[in-house]
Amino acid sequence: MPVNRPAVWFPLCAAAAAICLVLLRTGKRPEFAIEFLFALFVLLSGLIRLTGLPWLNLAYFPVVIGMTGLYSLLTVLAALGLLLLLVPLGLLAARFGISLTQVDLREEGAFAFFLLATAALSSLLFTRLKKEREQAASSLSEIRTRAQSIVTQTGMESLSSDEVTSHYFASMLKTDEEIGELLLTLKKAVYADAVNLFVPSGSDIVLRCSTEEKGDIIISGEGVLRRCMAERKTLAAGEIEENKIDIGYLKKNGRTKSIMALPVAAGASIIGVITADRGRNDLFNITERETGMMFARQVEKILERERVYLQIKRDYFGLKVLREESSTLLSSLNAEVVIRTLCEGAEKIAAVGIYFFSAEEGGFKLAYCTGETPADRLYDLKGTFIQMGAENKQPIYIADVSSYKIPLLPFKAADIRAIAVIPLMYEKRFLGIFTACSDKKDFLSTLQLDLLKVMCNQASTSLANARLHAAIEKMATTDGLTGLFNHRVFQEKLSAELSRSGRTAKPVSLLLTDIDFFKKINDTYGHPVGDQVLKRVSAIIRETIRTIDIPARYGGEEFAIVLPETDAEGALRIAERLRKAIGEQEFTTDRRPFRVTISIGVATLPGDARTKEELIERSDQALYHAKHGGRNRSVVWRHVA
Ligand code: GH3
Ligand code: MG
Ligand code: MG
Repeated sequence: MPVNRPAVWFPLCAAAAAICLVLLRTGKRPEFAIEFLFALFVLLSGLIRLTGLPWLNLAYFPVVIGMTGLYSLLTVLAALGLLLLLVPLGLLAARFGISLTQVDLREEGAFAFFLLATAALSSLLFTRLKKEREQAASSLSEIRTRAQSIVTQTGMESLSSDEVTSHYFASMLKTDEEIGELLLTLKKAVYADAVNLFVPSGSDIVLRCSTEEKGDIIISGEGVLRRCMAERKTLAAGEIEENKIDIGYLKKNGRTKSIMALPVAAGASIIGVITADRGRNDLFNITERETGMMFARQVEKILERERVYLQIKRDYFGLKVLREESSTLLSSLNAEVVIRTLCEGAEKIAAVGIYFFSAEEGGFKLAYCTGETPADRLYDLKGTFIQMGAENKQPIYIADVSSYKIPLLPFKAADIRAIAVIPLMYEKRFLGIFTACSDKKDFLSTLQLDLLKVMCNQASTSLANARLHAAIEKMATTDGLTGLFNHRVFQEKLSAELSRSGRTAKPVSLLLTDIDFFKKINDTYGHPVGDQVLKRVSAIIRETIRTIDIPARYGGEEFAIVLPETDAEGALRIAERLRKAIGEQEFTTDRRPFRVTISIGVATLPGDARTKEELIERSDQALYHAKHGGRNRSVVWRHVA
């Protein structure tokens, strides 16, 4: 090596090193790494010999370590091997009288061995480091995949993958633990005996987190705590015992002689107070107070993140409920189902008490009541808060009802602190009142209230539909004058009862009735009076029979009554009771009062008949006998057949 001619080898080696580096970088070809390293080592070696400073040899070690970090062990070893080859080359040249450099073979050998050992060791370390890094990267990607799968399950696809991951982390976050650690660090930083985080809960103040054991702190929630909340600034006080200062809490194990209270705010509202206290009369100085404020900011961020995350979760859940329930709301033609779907959906959106008052003729029926079966009665809403809400025809939300003196509901309900009243209207028709109550003030977010309004709006359309449907169905099944089932429904119901009796082997009886000399009533008092008689007779029939019996207007002034699970004897008893009740009814007219009588034919299946047609025919025959036997009587078919 022409060490003796630095003007030649130095630029030569530097150029070689530079070219190899460029080739290595641009070509990304790892084989150039050996050439680059070799040129670098030769450059270094020459530099050391030129300067005549042998301790510079130590520079080989950091260079070798650095290189094993960048290139593989094999590459570094190969470059070092090439360098070692120069030693015998130098010796060979010396034999031929060419003095390249003076080398001590043993010295060079030992040095080379140390270099190789350093390269091997650092390579081992680098490999391990790399492995750990790879592991960390793979667990991060695993977390991302898991977060993504949670999102797919819950349908939060609309969020970007980063948002999703941060949600996942947020959901995994143990807010209390994080705050706990911050409080502990603050305690050490300001030399406090204890650091606590108090948060407002309704009108009270509660302990959220503390460096003290649970139960060691008794809160009165007044004094410094309350003042810090009201004034929203850092407060510090010393000589507490001497000046009898109320700090707002007591510690079971230990006295407090000095305190600082730091407000934790979110926007305009105070969401907590951090206190640091000492058992010695040593006022917290300005630096300590500033440190405290820094920690309060941190806690602020954690609480805010928790709040935002919970809000997002709730809002997302609300929209999901709306999407699911609205199809039921829109598709059902049953008023009861509509009201139940609405109220149960509302309970999912906000965990509150729901009351639904459905507008009926003559009052309001409580159709839904969270956790209870509503009483079957009509309520008068006059003088109540919800009546006011209904009259406004607009939703009302009162976040705090403390100042309202009038009763909120028409009955005594559990402690109500806040109330939302949403009237259900359809084309100016008033259908009902939806009410959500809570024992906490401010229980609904704007979004929750909006969701409830949308659901009520949908429900009102469905409820109007359901009522229309019910009215049409009633028209199709009942007789307009008497309100009893019409002939078609009578036939259907009788068939149903007979097939049921076939299964249960219980008898079914049929009463056919006909008002006596009804033509005469029409002729004497006029048709309208005849109609009144028909109406009154129908009402008496309904009042006299049992709830399981089925009354129908068979035709003209004839009525049929199906008596399930009733034998001939029982049927005769009911017939007689009915005949007497009608006979006792006095009808008043502008002329003179009068009474009517009826004749009844009774037949029973299976005793008197095997089919529906037979049963009707036998009852009719019995009725014929009753008429011909002198009217105003009940006749059982088997007694005359
Ligand atoms: P009987 O004792 O033999 O039954 O004598 P009756 O006069 O009641 O004779 P029938 O049963 O044949 O008469 C039925 C009358 O009922 C005929 C009809 O004018 C009258 N009628 C039928 N439907 C109505 C109605 O909807 N309103 C009124 N006012 N009269 C009706
Ligand atoms: Mg008749
Ligand atoms: Mg008649």
